[in-house]
Order: sequence, then C-alpha cells, then structure tokens
Amino acid sequence: MSSERLHFVLPPPGSLDFGPHVFPVEKYALVPRLVREELGVGADRFHPPDELRLDDLLRVHDPAYCDDLEHARETEATLSSELPVDAGVIQGIRSMAGGTVTALRLALEHGVGFHLGGGFHHAFRDHAEGFCYLNDIALAIEGLRAERGLGRVLIVDVDVHQGNGTASIFADDANTFTYSIHQERNYPFYKEASDLDRGLADGVGDRDYMHALTADLDAVDARFDPQLVLVVAGVDPYEFDQLGGLRLTPLGLEQRDEAVFQRYLRRGLPLAIVLAGGYARTAEETSRLHLGTVRAALRAAAVGG
Ligand SMILES: [Zn+2]
Repeated sequence: MSSERLHFVLPPPGSLDFGPHVFPVEKYALVPRLVREELGVGADRFHPPDELRLDDLLRVHDPAYCDDLEHARETEATLSSELPVDAGVIQGIRSMAGGTVTALRLALEHGVGFHLGGGFHHAFRDHAEGFCYLNDIALAIEGLRAERGLGRVLIVDVDVHQGNGTASIFADDANTFTYSIHQERNYPFYKEASDLDRGLADGVGDRDYMHALTADLDAVDARFDPQLVLVVAGVDPYEFDQLGGLRLTPLGLEQRDEAVFQRYLRRGLPLAIVLAGGYARTAEETSRLHLGTVRAALRAAAVGG
C-alpha cells in the first residue's frame, strides 16, 4: 500500500541522547525501523535532513537567543527548556529542525513529506520551552517561503499540548493559520492564542474528539484557503500517555490522522507531517502509535487526490 507521493525524512541516528528521560528519544530510531520492516517502505523513500545554517535560524529566532544556542550558554532563554543546555542536544534539535524543512520541500515536490521526527511547537522566537529549543515548524515554513515562495500555510496541531510557541511566532502573520486541538488543563498552563483553539476537557475519548476536530476543520475551511498543510501529529492524546489526560485509543488516533490527511489530499494540497509528542509507557509503545500515523498517511496518499 505504498504511494509514490509519500516520502520520508530520517532523523540522523543518535542525534538526540540525554539518557533516561520521559522523552523517549529511542523512537527516532525505532519508528524508521518499523516503517521499513513492518510496512515494507523501500530505502528510496527515505531522505536525509537539510543542514540549517545560522542564517536559516535567524529567519525565525532572535539573534541573541541564536547566539546563546550556538555557544550552549545557560541563560534565561535557554534554561526555560526542560532539556539539558548541551551543545550535542542543541545540535540534535537543529538537525531535527532541518528535517522539517526537508519534509516541506518533499511535500511540494511529491505531494506528501513525512518527517519521522520534529514537532517542537513550544519553542518561541526568543526562548526555549518544554523539550523545544528551535521551532522546526516555523523554520520550515519560513525556509520554504524564502526558497520557493511558499504562500499560505495551515498548521493543524493535534498534539495533546497547545502549540504555544507556533501560535506566538505566527500571531501577526495572515499567511499562516494556526489551529490547535489540545487538553485544556495541561501544559502549557499559559496558552498563547492560535487562530483557532480547541481546549478539550480531561478524559475526552475517540468519538467526542473526532466530533470536535471535524467541526473545527470545517470552520477553518470557511476562513482560510491554504496552499500547504502541515500536521503536527502528536500521539500524546493516547489514553495511557504519561503526560496527557485524554483517552484516545490507538485506533482512534490512527482514524484521526487518516481523516485529517484525507481531507487535504483529496483537494490535491501538499501535505507535510511531523511526529511531535508521544509519552506512552514504553518507547516501543510510543513508536507503535507513531507507526499508526504512518499507516494512516500511506493509506491517505494511496487513495486521495
Ligand atoms: Zn505534546
């Protein structure tokens, strides 16, 4: 069930490593392996990430903050992250950001670009938050605008946490529509305003989630006409997620993703996908949920458009 239209970006091996942590970095090696071995995706579909230069980072991020990152300096702007302020970790996040740039380019060239990493939506222009130093979503959009004149972009962020960094970065940009569906009573506790936000109550399950998502995406359609759609496909709305309080089942997550992908592929719109969050009980369980997102993309790419 492979489609010529769907291409993947591989996170560089070992790009992120900070020992035992609720953030299961092992998934960046495990998910690609499962995609190859269990879904039979051929090596010709995998692409290495772009290398980002300082100039690329400066399209989105503040110069003083970029300088702190370049020197792995402990300042208010870097210490607001929940990751170590470490040159290797920062370089890993930078490689990840490059992968999202590559995914958007693949989306424009082939139809669907799927980065098996990325989704660092809590990074702001001038400081880090959560597990996010650089906002790969914003860097990719601004990168492709500079490189190819990319126009209107819709961001559909279905991670259980609000995409506060992305909302803040694009607050005044009429060419970027930010939509976030998340658990209201969860991190970040101070939420930025997206163009459309849906804060769900604790414990929402598959049916109510899909009902809210569908109604919201219909409302977005009436307000914005995108030229590319970027899905931040976090699997942390999962019922057994350690950092989430919603109750989506694995099947519910996969159906969510397929519905979102199909909606835009049917219209022939370029689609980019990033993994974002997932904190199930083990890295294996988390990786299998992300694999569901990949299956959904393969099915949607095979039938849509
Ligand atoms: Zn999350």
